[in-house]
Amino acid sequence: MDRRSLIKKGAVAAGALIAAKGSVSPSRAYAGEKKFRWRMVTSWPPSFPILQTGVERFAKRVGELTGGRLAIRVYAGGELVPPLGVFDAVSSGSVQCGHSAAYYWAGKCNAAQWFTSIPFGLDAQGMNAWFYYGNGLKLWEEVYSKFNLIPRPAGNTGVQMGGWFNKKIENMSDFKGLKMRIPGIGGKVIGKAGAAVTLLPAGEIYTSLERGVIDATEWIGPFHDIRMGFYKVAKYYYGPGWHEPGSTLELIVNKKAYDRLPQELRVAVDTAAAELNVEMLSEFETKNAMALKELHRDKKIKILTFPDKVLQGLRRLSMETIAEIARKDPLSRKVNDDFQNFKKELSAWNRLSEKAYYDYML
Ligand code: CA
Repeated sequence: MDRRSLIKKGAVAAGALIAAKGSVSPSRAYAGEKKFRWRMVTSWPPSFPILQTGVERFAKRVGELTGGRLAIRVYAGGELVPPLGVFDAVSSGSVQCGHSAAYYWAGKCNAAQWFTSIPFGLDAQGMNAWFYYGNGLKLWEEVYSKFNLIPRPAGNTGVQMGGWFNKKIENMSDFKGLKMRIPGIGGKVIGKAGAAVTLLPAGEIYTSLERGVIDATEWIGPFHDIRMGFYKVAKYYYGPGWHEPGSTLELIVNKKAYDRLPQELRVAVDTAAAELNVEMLSEFETKNAMALKELHRDKKIKILTFPDKVLQGLRRLSMETIAEIARKDPLSRKVNDDFQNFKKELSAWNRLSEKAYYDYML
């Protein structure tokens, strides 16, 4: 392009800008300054560390970024809707947004499970790569569109722990008859290995473990597990959390409420979600490391890694289970295909980068 046509183009663009500016009526300019009040519901108990406290920081951040034009009031699980009522409340528009985990909605939307974590799936770094630079977020938006929801990754637990056991796990046969509390796809997998899987609400896990109603339970990681007191009633603490290697938390926004926001406010919501995504993982990593140190001081419990043959066995059963779940509907198949392809390509790179380096960093 020569200089003259550039100038001409510039003049046209400037003219368009002036025209656009001139066309803004006083009422539209006022509408741009409109204030929005949102209600946000979560699946977490009041003040629940890292998760609920992270969400409260998110709401405050949106207020700061928008100069108070978007004010979000946060309600913990059960305050406005039950912890697992978040999806329906945001989908119906009775509240504008929520914070939860996509795999809770497996019963309504099978394909949602891949957007939290699947057994032997991607870790936090891999999930973020898939969301932000692979097709992850695009697919998530597609899966949630019929529910009038806009999803954003908004936190990650990092690799969780395998759980607390009162029986030693040395072979796959040790899962036979093991009574374990473990939800989701992980539960289906150890069910295949012969375990009796139970689902207990958080408040009943400790006494069930203490009284031998269950032999084992998974929860999150050292920081949250210490608060549950499981170290007082279990002998072995196993890692890694093969069933939740990088659980992503979600921000869900009602599509109409999102579309009603001026562009700069939408950007503020997206930016605060991305910030929470980084912050929450950083908080998990740091606090888990500190809590592990505390657990190591307790001489009564043994902190162990599952033997290689057990992890290989669990991986084989996980692949079978995930393939079955992916066959349920076309959208799940599409998400799983993309996820597995992305993971395969990332693995080739990560074997040469993260994995090769890790042994020398630790
Ligand atoms: Ca867990």
